[in-house]
Amino acid sequence: MLNIIICGAPGSGKGTQSDLIVEKYTLKHLSTGDLLRKEIAEKSELGKTAESYISQGNLVPDAMIIDILSKHVENQAEDSNGIILDGFPRTVAQAEALEVMMKKLDKEISVLIDLKVDENELIDRLVARGQTSGRTDDNLETIKKRLDVYHCQTEPVNEFYKNLNRYNAINGMGTIDEIFERISTVIDSKR
Ligand code: ADP
Repeated sequence: MLNIIICGAPGSGKGTQSDLIVEKYTLKHLSTGDLLRKEIAEKSELGKTAESYISQGNLVPDAMIIDILSKHVENQAEDSNGIILDGFPRTVAQAEALEVMMKKLDKEISVLIDLKVDENELIDRLVARGQTSGRTDDNLETIKKRLDVYHCQTEPVNEFYKNLNRYNAINGMGTIDEIFERISTVIDSKR
């Protein structure tokens, strides 16, 4: 069983690399950003609440995202080799809740992969993505806010996993294939 967390700043390539990891290792992909955007597209009550946070570049409340995520973790497909969490945990409170969730299911996080990308490159990537993504949060003002939120609220999660000896930083600069190669080397060393 391989349970992976992929993290990194907005624009670091978590979604792109997750797709490649899912295909190679047959994992179930859980992206909290995608789950929230689905709720927004369906105009559910939850989606409406989430949108007010997301469009401002803020995180949605911990209790809300933990509730959504736990349902999906529990329903993990029997035919997958494990899960890849993309965009979760984004706060230390979420990391603590995840540990409890996994313990209850008698599972554990195998490794955390942290994609490291220079700040200027992140901004360039997100601004470029905004031209085609249609995402309301891919504009310069909101991008800067998301990067601030990342440094203040999400980076401390790295310390949490360093203390558990699960933390691996990966150079997220280069071609998609080069980065995937680096990630695969780390995953293969954990199997
Ligand atoms: P990115 O990594 O480019 O910011 P995501 O799709 O992962 O994109 O997330 C988009 C937005 O969804 C975040 O800015 C945040 O508002 C919300 N979100 C996603 N995951 C979480 C989470 N685990 N906790 C709180 N908010 C979240």
